[in-house]
Amino acid sequence: MSVSTPQSSALGTLYVVATPIGNLDDISARALRVLADVSLIAAEDTRHSTRLLQHFGIRTPLAACHEHNEREEGGRFITRLLAGEDVALISDAGTPLISDPGYHLVRQARAAQVRVVPVPGACALIAGLSAAGLPSDRFVFEGFLPAKQVARCARLTAVKHDPRTLIFYEAPHRLLDSVADMRDVFGAERPAVLARELTKAFETIQGLPLHELHDWIAADSNQQRGECVLLIAGYQEPAQAAEVSLEAQRVLTLLMAELPPKRAAAIAAEITGVHKKALYQWALDNKPA
Ligand code: SAM
Repeated sequence: MSVSTPQSSALGTLYVVATPIGNLDDISARALRVLADVSLIAAEDTRHSTRLLQHFGIRTPLAACHEHNEREEGGRFITRLLAGEDVALISDAGTPLISDPGYHLVRQARAAQVRVVPVPGACALIAGLSAAGLPSDRFVFEGFLPAKQVARCARLTAVKHDPRTLIFYEAPHRLLDSVADMRDVFGAERPAVLARELTKAFETIQGLPLHELHDWIAADSNQQRGECVLLIAGYQEPAQAAEVSLEAQRVLTLLMAELPPKRAAAIAAEITGVHKKALYQWALDNKPA
């Protein structure tokens, strides 16, 4: 695969342009300029995108580029790019290629030595992660889960022990079933966040253990509407995840006054029955300064 360096100016450029996921103010000044300047916009749904472009007074012609024609029709766009015309790729919302069409066109363009330029912007998984309060240093995007329960549970089981934050897109009518399966596969206490209707009027970001999140969604049908991202805390070793009860904390604190943390944790484990590793971690986190 070639590196993304400027190619011959005789060729056009394919711009991969992010559009808003709800709030139209989230489109960037650069995205508007590119969309107005290119010869053609390849859009997932031309009717949907016509409304967006009309809102911004952009009159660039549109052509369909969706999952059913992308592979076969991509050649049409490549021909225009090779002839020196610039083309922008957009999807219905957010960043193209992210659970959206565009992968085949980008591949074809790069194979044809056409320069591909990202114009970044909104993306639901990143917006959700940025506000969820779950670890964001390492994460896995799993896209949409399978619609059928057996396949869905198999996919969840495959990532059950992944320590990184897990991110899923889900359709509103499957939300409750998916959260129920997550609760059953990942465990009732696994921390989870539902990020719904991001950037829109009814934006909701709710963080609860999976069993509570399930019951909260079940009790309020409004939470089963609109668009949503599910973010699940990564797997933690049971020892680290184990609760250090208040009584264990009291015993450990007394012992720590006399003993080094490792020894104090070992004795506290004998007394309280709490796992030694969890007590040791607590001792390290709460060592007197
Ligand atoms: N390309 C888009 C992106 O960059 O996020 C995602 C397109 S995918 C077909 C649509 C899914 O993204 C929705 O079903 C939902 O899971 C998520 N999504 C899109 N907009 C959202 C929003 N405003 N709030 C929460 N989730 C959203």
